[in-house]
Amino acid sequence: MKIIEKENRKYYQCEECGHIYKTEELANKCEEWCKEHKSCNLEIVKESVDIENKTTGMSGLKLAPFKIHSIKNGQDQGIFMEI
Ligand SMILES: [Zn+2]
Repeated sequence: MKIIEKENRKYYQCEECGHIYKTEELANKCEEWCKEHKSCNLEIVKESVDIENKTTGMSGLKLAPFKIHSIKNGQDQGIFMEI
């Protein structure tokens, strides 16, 4: 799981399928499901958010800086990426 910090908000990303959630609980559920079933659970995925939509219409351009933390076994591995 990865934690994405953007505009003072935190989002949680399933590392298996890349979907992003507003809560850690949903991201964990998704990741567990994805690992076990090698597919996505639509009931979980429908709760996901698309943070890219909040940026401008210019493709590839992200106005707001964000940080991505990588979480392994519940431990924060530090900043994985910072933009
Ligand atoms: Zn997933």
